Amino acid sequence: MKEPAMPTKPIMITRTPRGTQPTRQTHAAPATPAWQHALAHAIRDPESLALELDLDPVCLPGLHAGHDLFRVRIPRSYLARMRKGDPRDPLLLQVLPQLRETEEHPGFVADPVGDHDALAAPGLVHKYHGRVLLLTTGACAVHCRYCFRREFPYAEHNASREDWAPALAYIKADPSIREVILSGGDPLSLTDHRLADLLRRLEAIPHLERLRIHTRLPVVLPERVDDQLLGWLGTGRLHHVLVLHANHPQEFADPAAPALARLRERGITLLNQAVLLAGINDDPDTLCELQEAGFRHGILPYYLHLLDRTRGTAHFEVAEHRAIELHRALQARLPGYLVPRLVREIPGQPGKTPRWNEA
Ligand SMILES: *Cc1c(COP(=O)(O)O)cnc(C)c1O
Ligand code: SF4
Repeated sequence: MKEPAMPTKPIMITRTPRGTQPTRQTHAAPATPAWQHALAHAIRDPESLALELDLDPVCLPGLHAGHDLFRVRIPRSYLARMRKGDPRDPLLLQVLPQLRETEEHPGFVADPVGDHDALAAPGLVHKYHGRVLLLTTGACAVHCRYCFRREFPYAEHNASREDWAPALAYIKADPSIREVILSGGDPLSLTDHRLADLLRRLEAIPHLERLRIHTRLPVVLPERVDDQLLGWLGTGRLHHVLVLHANHPQEFADPAAPALARLRERGITLLNQAVLLAGINDDPDTLCELQEAGFRHGILPYYLHLLDRTRGTAHFEVAEHRAIELHRALQARLPGYLVPRLVREIPGQPGKTPRWNEA
């Protein structure tokens, strides 16, 4: 981790061999939270991935070619929810580098969303009324192959942003802003120390009402939901909303389930956004089960995104007419509150553009 570590628990009692006095030690270095260990031990190379999942060696050239474009990163607790020896596993497909990532397709470009044109202050995107997006870090616990940020060097620009002052000054100066959205990368890959500090500074801005966090960590790295996180998350003056990101119902299985339960017990509003992905969730049964499984964990659906056309992701695309058909199937089969909004991100629009009413 590049992040500065948590402040030290000053005193630690160490177990000592029988017959000796326990030593009280003052540590200069803090105890690293378990989730950071888990992150450090994530799968980060093609060989380990193939080995752990018993993948056919025929996958290896694709694994390497994709890895060279966007590095493999998969937490082991996420890997544990995949079927071994199955290259079509819907969780694996989200993180599996493939030869197809090297293909060029017309319309699939490096930055389809055009986020870096809209920076209002360093790390701050103000595109929509009343809410701003704060890019807190470039780091993610998992590297999703369909990610629209796979080519943007967020890591360089934001990985260790020490200074949020200009962004906070901008927010403070605009009373129309009611909500700050922490995004990235994944904001929960920052330490609790930094996040709690940021929260305090946001709470001091009187016109803010809501803090929203866009994060995939509770799903892909459930270890992240620990006592330290719950020491600040869901506390204080602002209403906290967590927008999770899961694309397949199997992602809510253990060990994610107990982490989600802890968040829910905290009284945090839990929403989910998913991306419609070919071969992963582009059928009515899977999409329905995603919403129903989420609800069992206290999560309401928010957005179902059409894929952003990022270079190297064409193999994930579901045609828009098919997406609308699938969305109709959801409307026919689910209560209204379990139907996500089907949207596409179109640069220059005042919000996400709904797609479900069009033929
Ligand atoms: C998606 C997004 C938001 C949040 O939009 P909501 O419709 O409120 O979820 C805010 N700012 C930017 C730049 C976004 O891309
Ligand atoms: S967690 Fe989100 S930002 Fe990170 S790689 Fe996945 S889709 Fe991209």
